[in-house]
This record gives sequence, C-alpha cells and structure tokens, in this order.
Amino acid sequence: MYKVKCFECGSEVDDPFVDSCPKCGGLLTIEMDLDEASGLRPYDLRKRPLGVWRYAPFLPVDASKAVSLLEGGTPLYDCQNLRSRIGIKSVHVKYEGANPTGSFKDRGMTVGVTRAVELGCGTVGCASTGNTSASLSAYAAKAGRTCIVLLPSGKVAAGKLAQAMFYGAKVVMVDGNFDDALRVTRQLAREGVLYLLNSINPFRPEGQKTVAFEIVDQLDFEVPDRIILPVGNAGNISAVHKAFEEWKSLGWIDRIPKLTGIQAAGSAPLVKAFRAGSRGFIPEASPETVATAIRIGNPVSGRKALKAIYDTGGYATDVTDEQILDAQKMLGRMEGVGVEPASAASIAGLIKLVDEGVVAKDERVVCICTGNVLKDPDTVMRSCAEILKAKPTVEDVRRVIA
Ligand SMILES: *Cc1c(COP(=O)(O)O)cnc(C)c1O
Ligand SMILES: [Zn+2]
Repeated sequence: MYKVKCFECGSEVDDPFVDSCPKCGGLLTIEMDLDEASGLRPYDLRKRPLGVWRYAPFLPVDASKAVSLLEGGTPLYDCQNLRSRIGIKSVHVKYEGANPTGSFKDRGMTVGVTRAVELGCGTVGCASTGNTSASLSAYAAKAGRTCIVLLPSGKVAAGKLAQAMFYGAKVVMVDGNFDDALRVTRQLAREGVLYLLNSINPFRPEGQKTVAFEIVDQLDFEVPDRIILPVGNAGNISAVHKAFEEWKSLGWIDRIPKLTGIQAAGSAPLVKAFRAGSRGFIPEASPETVATAIRIGNPVSGRKALKAIYDTGGYATDVTDEQILDAQKMLGRMEGVGVEPASAASIAGLIKLVDEGVVAKDERVVCICTGNVLKDPDTVMRSCAEILKAKPTVEDVRRVIA
C-alpha cells in the first residue's frame, strides 16, 4: 500500500484529482509502504525479466492490471572508449533510448496510465517538450483512451511530434513555451477535461524510479559512485533519489550515489540555485537551448531535485549547446550509442566536471542517456558532416571517398 503526501508540509492527500497540496500548494509525493518488499531479498525480484514491472513491490498500482509495452530493461553500456578518452576509471551509459517510444518517459507512463485506468479516466493529457507526448500517446492507444497533448509551437523535435500524431493523440500546438503549455494543461485537468499525466502527477515518478533500480541490478548491487543525468522538469532526478532512498531504507544498498544534474546553459535555473547554495530557485523566463527536452524555465520538481543533489553530496552544472552537440557526436562515434541532444548533456557534464576536478578520476560513473538519436534528426543533419555526392560509377565513388 501507499499514501499520497505533500512533499512540503507532509499532510496526506485523498483527492486523486488534485495536482498539488490543497493545504499549502506543495508538490505531491507517494510514500510507499515497504512492508511487502521487506520480506524479499533483491535477487528474488529476478524471477521477472529486467524492466519496470520487475520492481512491482515498489510501485503504487496493481501490476496484474499494468498497461505495459514492456518498458525498461534498457542496456547499461560499459563505455571503454569513452572512459579512456575522458581519463576516468569507469563510465557506463544507461541507454534509455531503447525504451518502446525511445525515451525514459515510458517508465513513468506505464505506471501513470495504469493509474488513469484504475481511476476510470476516459481522457488523458499532458503538456510536453515532445517525449512525454510521444509516450503518453502510445500508452493511451494501448489502453484505449483519448489523448490530448499540448506542445510549445515550433520547438518540438520532428521525431517526437511524428510519434504523437502517429499514435492518434489530439495534438495541440500552443503559442508559447513549455511552461505556458503546462499551465493551460493543469487548468484543463482541474476543470475535468483530462487526467493530467505530467510528472507533477506523483504516479509518474514512481515508475521512473525503476531506472535507478535497474542500474544497481545490472551492476550486481555494486552501487556506482555517481549518477549524472540531464535535468529539465527535474522529475527524473527526484525519482532516482527516491528509488535509492527506498532501497537504502530496506538495507538493499548501503549508500546512495552522488546525484549530479546537468542543465543547458540557456535554461539552468537549478544550477543557479545550486551555485547560490539555495533550496529554492528563480524560474527562467525565456529558456533557450538546442536540447529541447530540457528547455524548461520553471522546473516543476525543482525543489525535489535540489534536495536530491544536496542530500547525496551531488552537484549541478550547466553545459553549452556546443558542448552538448560535441558530446552527442563523441558518444555516437566512439561507442556507437545514439542519443538526442538533451541526453548528451549528461556526457558533456561528465567531461566538464572531470576537467574541473569535481569528478575524481577513480570514480565509477553512470550517465543516464534519456532519449534516442532518432527523436531529433534535424539537429543531427545540421551538426554532422555533409553528405558526399557521386555519379553511379565505382570510379566516382572512389573519387569522392578519397
Ligand atoms: C523529459 C526529458 C528530460 C528531462 O527529464 P526531467 O524529468 O524533466 O528532468 C531529459 N531528456 C529527455 C530525452 C527527456 O525526454
Ligand atoms: Zn502541503
């Protein structure tokens, strides 16, 4: 069992349709009752295949009714080329681009849509920089629900937009940025038009916890020293923190990795707060970055993220668009791993922090690479080498490749 509680004042919340604490307006969080899990040993979970639902005792919905596309179970790559290039002991990449719709959002969405069905909601919706809408559209299709997605106009990568359209969602382009789209979507949810499935819905982060569980599982319960991930709305870093706290409270792990959040330089309210040593942050009015998935000025879970970073002795820094695109190419060309720009922020951040001496050379680091390279083909086309052209003869092809 579980309780929905306010992250700020701790009061219990009963109404399943509110998106914040009725008393203080704080973020909601789920307190899992870990009694059921406490009778288990970690290896007992391995009776189920690697993936989100292996960790059912840690999820607040009935696994036998899961709306699932077999999400999670993504590869953890040991990046030996990258490791020697950067000059540190161990770098793994958790490749979330291998999820059913190509991003980690599927982990939260399988749980969120299962919850929507449990509540009998006929229409689900979200605001999105792209991946949330791609994911929700697919799970809504699987569950036979109507899906409405609000996107910031002109700022959604082609692959993500195509997915939302393809799975049959009603796609609404809002003349504004993500933060505007979310404000409107929350209002629509309050008016009962749709069930809100942004990460402000506390059931979403519960599913997203499983990326942390899988990393530890795949490393055979050797907890890495540090986990680096891109931060937009900050749902993911908060979920990862919660996951580790739950396993630590059961004694399954004895410490929590330093959680290290990376933002894009033009969109870095939490990095600014971290530099100031603050637990709160000032929203950015006009966030800008090539990494559209983290182009967010007012991170919904920002306060949870700062707590995650401080409590684990972690860190936060920003990287430029150029550093992001360089890191994206480096990962592709040295490791054969294709990620979208936002995901490459974690690699760019690692490189920067090793240079600055924040990450020690003997650390064992896991970078979470959140989304697939195919999400944003336009950025790849712009940032990679030009295409060679030849006549249909061997001689001419030999000439151009010389
Ligand atoms: C959503 C998303 C992020 C940001 O995750 P948050 O939970 O909003 O911090 C990063 N990368 C990709 C590819 C995403 O889709
Ligand atoms: Zn409260």
